[in-house]
Amino acid sequence: MDTKSLATLLFDASLPTLEEISNTYPRRNLKEGEKVTRMAPSPTGFMHLGNLYAALTSERLAHLSGGTFYLRIEDTDQKREVEGGVQAIIDGLSHFGLNFDEGALVEGEKGIYGPYRQRQRAKIYQAFAKDLVEKGMAYPCFCSEDELSDLRARQEAEKEDNLGYRGKWAKCRSLSLEEVEERLAKKMPWVLRFKSEGSIDNKFKFTDLVKGDLELSENDMDVVILKSDGIPTYHFAHVVDDYLMGTTHVVRGDEWIATLPIHLQLYRAVGLKAPKYMHIAPLMKMDGSTKRKLSKRKDPELALAFYKQEGYVVNCVMVYLMTLLNSNFEEWYAQNPDKSYRDFPFSPKKMSVSGALFDLVKLDDVSKNELAKLSNTELYALLETYTKEFDKEFYHIITAQKDKVLEILNIGRVGPKPRKDIAKLSEIKDYISYFFPELYQPDYQFPENISEEDRNLLITEYKDIYDENDTQDEWFQKIKDLSEKHGFTSNMKEYKKNPEAFKGNVAQVSTVLRVQICGRQNTPDTYEVFRVMGNELVKARLSL
Ligand code: GLU
Repeated sequence: MDTKSLATLLFDASLPTLEEISNTYPRRNLKEGEKVTRMAPSPTGFMHLGNLYAALTSERLAHLSGGTFYLRIEDTDQKREVEGGVQAIIDGLSHFGLNFDEGALVEGEKGIYGPYRQRQRAKIYQAFAKDLVEKGMAYPCFCSEDELSDLRARQEAEKEDNLGYRGKWAKCRSLSLEEVEERLAKKMPWVLRFKSEGSIDNKFKFTDLVKGDLELSENDMDVVILKSDGIPTYHFAHVVDDYLMGTTHVVRGDEWIATLPIHLQLYRAVGLKAPKYMHIAPLMKMDGSTKRKLSKRKDPELALAFYKQEGYVVNCVMVYLMTLLNSNFEEWYAQNPDKSYRDFPFSPKKMSVSGALFDLVKLDDVSKNELAKLSNTELYALLETYTKEFDKEFYHIITAQKDKVLEILNIGRVGPKPRKDIAKLSEIKDYISYFFPELYQPDYQFPENISEEDRNLLITEYKDIYDENDTQDEWFQKIKDLSEKHGFTSNMKEYKKNPEAFKGNVAQVSTVLRVQICGRQNTPDTYEVFRVMGNELVKARLSL
C-alpha cells in the first residue's frame, strides 16, 4: 500500500507539518522536579467533588514544585457539552481557591500552548493522524453501524471472547488505495483507526504513581482516533495535547486504567514521550454497611454547588479533602494548627489506592474545628458574603445589627477552648435566631421534674433579681440562692447522693431560665448569652 498517497487522499494539504507544530510548541524549560499538571474536563456543566479532588491533587503537585497548573477544555464530544460549561468549571474551582496559571478562560485563554479548547485544535490532531497514516499505522474505516453490529454477531457466534475491531476482523485494514478512493468519491463517511500490532497475550509492566506497579495487557483493538467529523477521540487528543502542552503528570480517574495500554501505544506510535500517570480512585461513601461510589442521582453532596449553597467554608472543605488525599495530613495538621493546608508536603505515594471514604459527618467535624479558629470578625465576613447570595432576609438583619452579631459570634469564641458548634454558615441563622425577635421561634421544653407552678415562681422571681451588671459570680450566686429558696439544691454532689431529698437542682433551674429566655435547651454559656441579649430583652422574655 502506498501510504503516502493514502494520506494525501484523506487529509487536507494545508495541514501544518509536525515540524511546524513542534516549533510552535517549544518544550518547557523546567527546573529539576518542576511539574506541569492540568485539569482536562468536558464542559458538561456539572462539577462534582471528584473533579475538585483530582484538581486539588493536580494543583498541589504543580504548585508545590513551583510548576504550572493549566486548564484544557475537552470538548470533542459535542453531545455532552452545555452552554456555560466552561464558566461552571472555572467558577466552581475558583470558589475553592484553585486557580489556573494557564489555559482556557471563560472568554479566550492565556498561555502559549493553546488553543486550550480541543475542537479548536482539530488541525493539529489531523497532522499527527496524517503522519500515522503515512507510517502505515492508521487507516480509514468505512464500516457502517450495521456492519459493526454484524461483526460483533459473527464474533459472538465464533465464541471470540475479545469482541471488537481488530486483527483479522478489521476488514477495512485491507482496503486497497483504489477501494478507498472509490469510497471517498461516493462521499462515504469514514473514521480513522489506529492499526494495532499489540496482542492481549503480551503483558507489560507499568508504574503508576498512585497505584504502584501494574501488569497490563497490550491493546489489540484498532481504536478510532479520528471520528467522521475529523475530531479526535479522547484517546488520541489527550496524547497529542499532553505532549505538546508539556504535561509532566496526568492525574485522572482510575476508570482510565483500562484504556491506558491504548494511550501508551499511541505515544509510542507518534514517537512522543508519555507523561507520568497518576490514577486516582473515586471517592466512596458508606451506604448502610456497603461502600459505594458517590452517585449523582442519590447523593446531593457529590455536586460542588452543594457546598456553596450549604455554606461550607472553602478552607474547611479543602482541609477535609486533604485528610482524604494523604493519610498523614491529619497528624501533620494537628501538629501545625496555624499552617495552611497548602504548606503540607503532599505526596502521591500516600494517596489511597482503593478509594477514600467521604463522610459528611467527618466534614462537619473538620469544619467545626476550623471555624472555631476564626475570629468573630472573620466569621462575620464569611456569613455576610454567604447570606448576601443565599439568604437575603438574614443578610438584612445581620448587616443592620452588625455590632450585635459580632458580640453574639464572640460568645464562647475567645479563650483557650473555643466552642466548636458551627459546621457551616447556613447553620448560624438558627444558631443565633433567639437573639432576634423577628426570627425567634421558641420551643419551650422545660425540665419535666419541675412543676409549672414552681417554674412560674422561679421565672417571675428571677425577673426581679436579674441585673445585667452582675459579674458572673454574682449572677451565679443569685441563681443558687433562688434555687435553694425553692427547694432546689445547689450542691450537685448532695443531689447525686440523695435526689429524693430535693425538688431538683440548680442545673435544672438554670435550664428553666435558659429555656424561658432563649426558647431552647442548648445555648452557649447563659451568663454571656443573657448579657449580650441585654436587659430589655431578657426581662421581656421573663414576663409571663
Ligand atoms: N476529559 C476527560 C474526563 O473528563 C479527562 C480525563 C483526563 O484528565 O485525562 O474524564
